[in-house]
Amino acid sequence: MPIVSEKVRMLFEERKIKVRYDLVLESIDLGRRVATFKTPTGAVETGYDFINVIPPMRAPDAVRNSPLPWQDGPWKSDGWIEVNRDNLRHKRFNNVFAIGDVAGVPKGKTAASVKWQVPVVVDHLVASLAGKESASVYGGYTSCPLITRLGRAMLVEFDYKDNLVPSFPGVIAPLAELWVTWVMKTMALKPTYLSMLRGRA
Ligand SMILES: Cc1cc2nc3c(=O)[nH]c(=O)nc-3n(C[C@H](O)[C@H](O)[C@H](O)COP(=O)(O)OP(=O)(O)OC[C@H]3O[C@@H](n4cnc5c(N)ncnc54)[C@H](O)[C@@H]3O)c2cc1C
Repeated sequence: MPIVSEKVRMLFEERKIKVRYDLVLESIDLGRRVATFKTPTGAVETGYDFINVIPPMRAPDAVRNSPLPWQDGPWKSDGWIEVNRDNLRHKRFNNVFAIGDVAGVPKGKTAASVKWQVPVVVDHLVASLAGKESASVYGGYTSCPLITRLGRAMLVEFDYKDNLVPSFPGVIAPLAELWVTWVMKTMALKPTYLSMLRGRA
């Protein structure tokens, strides 16, 4: 999301946080608290007090080693399922749909996305069973609550077109660091997701 990326870049600059995008983690020496990174000019060692490592993401083996993933294109190597981005129906297996992280669509790897994906898939399944077509479309809704400091967060919601699609227009401005968003992220979201899992939200 270019507009969010720019906002976060400004926050880093304001807080004098140095950012490097050209480092790839190679190894960590836990005893010495040193991380070794691959860089365009060779290996670089960096000491750390705290390190948070995000592993590369890919579909589970059961999916990757099945006929379901994309056979070519950007999602092939990670094994995401080859679905139509609008109706989440498999492009080769008409009776298969994918929702959640495993779906090979350009956006939507959040639990909040699933909330918008499920009704679309249900509409298509019900229509299929009745021998009809459904016009239900998933627009790529994705939600990222970003904690930016203790007591402040931004709720960034966007779709396939990179449009900002705020759920609470006029209350939660998408690019503002707000207390109310922080409360939502730290206190309200977990029960919301749990009630979603129970089919109540
Ligand atoms: C640190 C972090 C913070 C996040 N914060 C948010 C947030 O604030 N808001 C938000 O909306 N989203 C958030 N997300 C994203 C959200 O967690 C995921 O999008 C969501 O969990 C995807 O749900 P899923 O059911 O598709 O996949 P998963 O939750 O990954 O569930 C897949 C399940 O399948 C199981 N499985 C794998 N292989 C097999 C097998 N062979 N047989 C049986 N079971 C198998 C796995 O063990 C797992 O339980 C966050 C993710 C992370 C990592």
